[in-house]
Amino acid sequence: KKLGVALLGLGDYSTNQLGPALKQTKNARLAGIVTGSPEKIPKWQKEYEIPDGNIYNYQNFDTIADNKDIDIVYVVTPTALHPEFTIRAAQAGKHVICEKPMAPTTADCMRMIEAVKKAGKTLQIGYRLHWDPNHMRLMDAMKKKEFGDWKSISTANGSVMKSFTGLNAWRIGKDLGIAGALYDMGVYCVQGSLYTAGMNPVSVTAKHFTDRPEIFKEVPETYEWVLEFADGRKAEGTSSYGRQGNFLRAVVEKGVVEIAPGYNYGGGPKGRTPDGEMNFGPVNQQALQIDGQVASILAGTPSLVPGEMGARDIQVINGIIEAAETGKAFTFGKFPY
Ligand code: NAD
Repeated sequence: KKLGVALLGLGDYSTNQLGPALKQTKNARLAGIVTGSPEKIPKWQKEYEIPDGNIYNYQNFDTIADNKDIDIVYVVTPTALHPEFTIRAAQAGKHVICEKPMAPTTADCMRMIEAVKKAGKTLQIGYRLHWDPNHMRLMDAMKKKEFGDWKSISTANGSVMKSFTGLNAWRIGKDLGIAGALYDMGVYCVQGSLYTAGMNPVSVTAKHFTDRPEIFKEVPETYEWVLEFADGRKAEGTSSYGRQGNFLRAVVEKGVVEIAPGYNYGGGPKGRTPDGEMNFGPVNQQALQIDGQVASILAGTPSLVPGEMGARDIQVINGIIEAAETGKAFTFGKFPY
């Protein structure tokens, strides 16, 4: 039997990626929707044959507890709303998949983790790149030191966004998007740096700047940072809504392991090692991700992308902000992952 997933938040990512991916998944199916926009309902019902009883709004969402068709709630709202909906889903007795970035603060992340634990359910982050063959190849090569140990890591994830009107406005607002590109795109650089390094950092230095203050009124346009590890090695990163960048690169003893473009879906990532191009064909990352996440639920095995990993990444991101604000190195405390 396929587990039933309810998508919560029917914006761009649900509509164009997760919904279609759930038509391809082998052990999950789209069974329900949770939306604050009633006008979206007919199209989704028709497209996915969703019965009336499996449709919720944000007010009556908690009654999903009584719905045996729904095993998993997938939270796909603006970032600052992830904690509330994750906690309500857990209290309704559902497993949760929560989109990246996990939440505004580490404290929020810990509340989410606690709520899910208390419900005896699982919490996983929508870190799709753990199922992208290029990134899996990099992780494996780094873990085995196939091309020697790494010397330095550099990452960038940014694009030149011309405007943030309508649906996208939340991304550059402090309330819902928290720190703009750093949260939205920088989280991939942090993720990539840490699974390339195979360890967590001890400190970070950072700066932020804004080239277009007329657009970026609440959050900086660009963040740049350098993570430092216990042995002194470094991983630098840039995330920006004003500058193009899309790579994950490690200098290793035998050359370079690199994925560029690094973070896209739809066949985007292109990896190479000192042996040459990785040459993987396109995959549906989201379908593989959801199938992988459901497999770990069904088998009762640890997730590749647990809530604790999401919390660790938010702790790193919050450290980057702190370092940029103070202009001083920020030293990390104990990480949850
Ligand atoms: P979006 O703006 O297109 O959709 C957000 C949805 O949340 C909309 O349907 C909106 O109506 C709903 N919503 C509910 N309450 C809201 C409120 N108070 N204010 C604004 N919107 C509200 O955004 P999106 O691109 O679909 O992103 C949603 C989530 O998915 C984010 O966490 C984002 O980081 C994540 N995402 C992940 C990937 C990925 O590759 N993993 C890609 C895109 C987005």
